[in-house]
Amino acid sequence: MSQTVLIIEDDTAIREAVEVVLERAGLHTMTTPYGREGLRMLYERRPDIVVLDVGLPDIDGWDVLERIRDVSDIPVLMLTARGLEHEKVRGFQGGADDYVTKPFSNAELAQRVMAILRRVDQTTIASVYEDRNVRIDRTARDVSVGSDRIDLSVLDYQLLLAFVDHAGQVLSRGQLLELAWKDPLRIGPDRVKFAVGRLRRKLGWTGSSPINSVRGVGYRYQRDM
Ligand code: CA
Repeated sequence: MSQTVLIIEDDTAIREAVEVVLERAGLHTMTTPYGREGLRMLYERRPDIVVLDVGLPDIDGWDVLERIRDVSDIPVLMLTARGLEHEKVRGFQGGADDYVTKPFSNAELAQRVMAILRRVDQTTIASVYEDRNVRIDRTARDVSVGSDRIDLSVLDYQLLLAFVDHAGQVLSRGQLLELAWKDPLRIGPDRVKFAVGRLRRKLGWTGSSPINSVRGVGYRYQRDM
């Protein structure tokens, strides 16, 4: 079955170009120039991925992203006119899966969208996650690094899953608390630092680790490091 992309973009020329290129890539498309309407379409019609412009006439794309993340893990690719570093960090912190900076080529956009969809397919369908750093069998709840089986506590395991499921994204301490801890409200963010350190040690990821610290923001897991 063909997957559906929701395109929220107010610039008619860009919206139509994105629509055409993604239909050519084999996706169903639905489009709107408005953030609010986009949110309604998201709830009602459950697309598989959202392409979201930052500058929209009614509500800001960042607000749309925030509202999407309140209710859904659906992949979101942001279209941003600004190539500034803090905008990218903001996007990833806000839970965007990827972004492209305008002007972009149609081929690049289609490639990014299809890459995200492939990634999501792998994580939802396969019970085994594997990259060059680690292998995780979710059914058996087995973790190995190289040929070594690693014994992890429930918390360490949840923390590791939070990282691999959001590979490439910067996760704040607050987001990690939400993702890995059962009772995040009762725990201070300092505990995250401690837990990440322990996880790195258990996995033997000391020195140049696939779990990078992003100063003042949080952490990011890098696949295939
Ligand atoms: Ca715009």
